[in-house]
Amino acid sequence: MLAIDSHAHIWGHGFVPPAFFRAAAEGWAAKEESRRPEMIMPKLLEGIVDPDGDDFVANMDRAGIDASMIMMIDVGGPVFGEEPETPPEAQIEFYAELQRRHAGRLFCHVSVDAARPDHLDLTRRALRDHGLRGIGEITPNGFSAADPSIRPMLEIAADEGVPVQVHTRAGVWTDMDGSDLTEGNPVHPLHVARLARELPELRIILCHAGFPHWWQVAAEAVADLPNCMLDISNWNEVFRGAEAEMIARLATWRGIVGAERLLFASDQPSGPRFTGTRSHLGEWADFIRALPENAARHGYRFTPEEAAAIMGGNAARLYRIEEE
Ligand SMILES: [Zn+2]
Repeated sequence: MLAIDSHAHIWGHGFVPPAFFRAAAEGWAAKEESRRPEMIMPKLLEGIVDPDGDDFVANMDRAGIDASMIMMIDVGGPVFGEEPETPPEAQIEFYAELQRRHAGRLFCHVSVDAARPDHLDLTRRALRDHGLRGIGEITPNGFSAADPSIRPMLEIAADEGVPVQVHTRAGVWTDMDGSDLTEGNPVHPLHVARLARELPELRIILCHAGFPHWWQVAAEAVADLPNCMLDISNWNEVFRGAEAEMIARLATWRGIVGAERLLFASDQPSGPRFTGTRSHLGEWADFIRALPENAARHGYRFTPEEAAAIMGGNAARLYRIEEE
């Protein structure tokens, strides 16, 4: 069965500024008097680094994953008030090299903060000159997916015929849970639905399918918008020990948007902190691969064709990579 992870992350050295991990480092230090945030910072910064994708692809091989959609995130001056060591242009070249080195295995995306004056030029060149395969991950922070400020960038994706991945988990960056669960929250799935209605030729992935609070509204919001798909990343954080619930949720999503619009995904990060024995990618992939058997155990019915579509067929169709 073709297995495509539709949402994952690889970072090179210096892609993320220390400011990105400051909250996490302070949280760690607060637990013990002898600790200082700067003691853990190097481990946090280096722990996500994979200089050439080899370790990440080895992790995919262990999990039986054929291909992964790799996201870029721009967490520099505009968002965190501190620029990373490696600027966006060099990050784009890194992703182009990853794609060359792991042809047919890694499909990389561009995502440059729309607050940067050169974001349109960088985005266009990343897609046209470097052959990156989509825009993502867009994390609505201070703007929503329907905001005019990012529309020109999204129109480039529509013109180039590549998909866009938009974050719809209630929390952003290292704030995993989020606090504002209303539509006032710019990451709320309803904003993506507005975008999809206004730009019907744009193919959009709702990353994380509204994890955890908005899982139903994420599907309902795009039920009649065929240009939208849901990726199920982050649900891998909660499926173990709650299989019946996960099956019921998958069946509900299927009922609302159809199995043909669900994408297997993990949000797997790169680096020594997250791959190898620390990665549960294999368990999550096996759970979806065995969806017909797992569903039957809980009184639901999923066909092998539906499992194959969710596991990779839908992503291959969306990204037009069947041949590759
Ligand atoms: Zn992500």
